[in-house]
Amino acid sequence: MDLLPTENSPIAKKHGFRSLKLVNVEFDQEFQREPFGVDYGRLDNGLVYYVRSNSKPRMRAALALAVKVGSVLEEEDERGVAHIVEHLAFSATKRYTNHDIVKFLESIGAEFGACQNAVTSADETVYELFVPVDKPELLSQAISVLAEFSTEIRVSKEDLEKERGAVMEEYRGNRNASGRMQDAHWALMMEGSRYAERLPIGLEKVIRTVSSETVKRFYQKWYHLHNMAVIAVGDFSDTQTVVELIKTHFGEKNLAPDPPIIPLFPVPSHEEPRFSCFVESEAAGSAVMISYKMPADELKTVKDYRDMLAESMFLHALNQRFFKISRRKNPPYFSCSAAADALVARVRLHGFSEREISVVRALLMSEIESAYLERDQMQSTSLRDEYIQHFINDEPVIGIEYEAQLQKTILPYLSASEVSKFAEKLQTSCSCVLKTIEPRASATIDDLKNVVLKINNLEKEGNISPWDDEHIPEEIVNIKPNPG
Ligand SMILES: [Zn+2]
Repeated sequence: MDLLPTENSPIAKKHGFRSLKLVNVEFDQEFQREPFGVDYGRLDNGLVYYVRSNSKPRMRAALALAVKVGSVLEEEDERGVAHIVEHLAFSATKRYTNHDIVKFLESIGAEFGACQNAVTSADETVYELFVPVDKPELLSQAISVLAEFSTEIRVSKEDLEKERGAVMEEYRGNRNASGRMQDAHWALMMEGSRYAERLPIGLEKVIRTVSSETVKRFYQKWYHLHNMAVIAVGDFSDTQTVVELIKTHFGEKNLAPDPPIIPLFPVPSHEEPRFSCFVESEAAGSAVMISYKMPADELKTVKDYRDMLAESMFLHALNQRFFKISRRKNPPYFSCSAAADALVARVRLHGFSEREISVVRALLMSEIESAYLERDQMQSTSLRDEYIQHFINDEPVIGIEYEAQLQKTILPYLSASEVSKFAEKLQTSCSCVLKTIEPRASATIDDLKNVVLKINNLEKEGNISPWDDEHIPEEIVNIKPNPG
């Protein structure tokens, strides 16, 4: 008999975090490329698979076909085609008529329609199915539907004519105030790169007139198994049976002889900040946003993980200051958002205090503790999303146990000065975009430029006072929003 409670006993689970061992941190140590805790592999034809048993919710499985193909790959006369392909998948495939697909979706209790079960973005298209597993034939059929989507979508003239209306409806639905604002923001952020002109919804002209040949050409050019992964997380009695099902439905397919390499489309950095004053009569209120674009951090080593934690602490600590300003009697909200840069400049000059950082550290520690203690409550859909990110963006999957150990080990050593250093990355000369959204024009681009200039000068002169919790600083900027 064991004298100590085993890992899985209720007592061990409850006290698990306290007794969780610290790890020996080697900063150069690389994370495993293979995702942790999942049956993972690649078929000869290039298809990657992830299969995991998970019983939340019971008797259900979350499936996905993730494809590294999105709207950024479209040529000018194809703008909107990646999304049209997604729609056509639910229209018909070589094996399944539209009637079959509707019947199948009904049998798994899913809503019908492309956008209910799939999403197209600039870099990827993901098809998702949530299926009951109590009838084994449904799981097999679901995987066979995904296999059909991967290479057998029927792109006929008739299918396309039928689908144009639904896609146009979506296009028009997106023309509301929030859609227009999102689109404008995207264009401003991505200016100078291919992404700026590749919103997934595409162009009205293309939706109305593109030929089935063009759609077919796009589908055949880019949809290749080595760009795809099948993910299945659910209440399976074992993973091997599910892997076999994937092999049955995908294994026969051949690797295309010379599939094109998916190009990268860089987003250029800029030293001069970009400004925009967006007037949208239907906007609910006024807002100012400041965005700093930076290369996506690689997360390959323990050192990268430590940097990521420091960044997360920085953002939490900055948010605490924002929160305190917003609680002032007359929160200068408009100006304090425009002066986000002033808050960051203040951190550059004076840093966060150890007290502020200890509050943040305690918060992150309690978050990871909860995540660890509730680790057997993970939903299959969240695990599926984690594997999608692993496949699409190379995000490591290291397992909640190791992650909790890492955080427990590293968090106590992240000092206020190390966290404050992150402010160096957030300079207005580092690919910064500043914009206002207002129902009626009031702020001008010159106002925004003046704000930035003023704060930069104050910082250069060292003329920004340290943060004082008791005396929240007066606003630096004097642009007032129009009331209403
Ligand atoms: Zn759609």
